[in-house]
Amino acid sequence: MHSFAAHVKKMLSERGWSGLRPSDLAKSIMIEGAELLEIFQWDNQSPEAVKADAEKMEQIRTELADVMIYCFEMGAVLDLDMEEVLSEKLKKVEEKYPVALFNTGTHGSDPGTEAIYKEVKEKYRRDGTH
Ligand SMILES: [Mg+2]
Repeated sequence: MHSFAAHVKKMLSERGWSGLRPSDLAKSIMIEGAELLEIFQWDNQSPEAVKADAEKMEQIRTELADVMIYCFEMGAVLDLDMEEVLSEKLKKVEEKYPVALFNTGTHGSDPGTEAIYKEVKEKYRRDGTH
């Protein structure tokens, strides 16, 4: 992770792009996110079906990389330690959705439709945390 962040920082520096505006990077992240989403417009395939589609997988690789490169560019411009940023947030997500509560084998693999997921999410929204 650190080496990738350093690579992005070097790429920006070499091109004179280290002063990119954070707002432009935020826009770029969302624009690339929309390009990723567009790949799935009008379909709702399973992971297996997506993986079996080589052309789609290549498009996903490209757009996922675009999103993540802009994320790392934001980190570089704002002097954020992206490994730390990601680790801190992942820890919060793990605390928010405890294994014991969610991995009960009684519900499916679609978290967005689970009542318990919605309950936890709504509680966090009420409490003003993410
Ligand atoms: Mg793109």
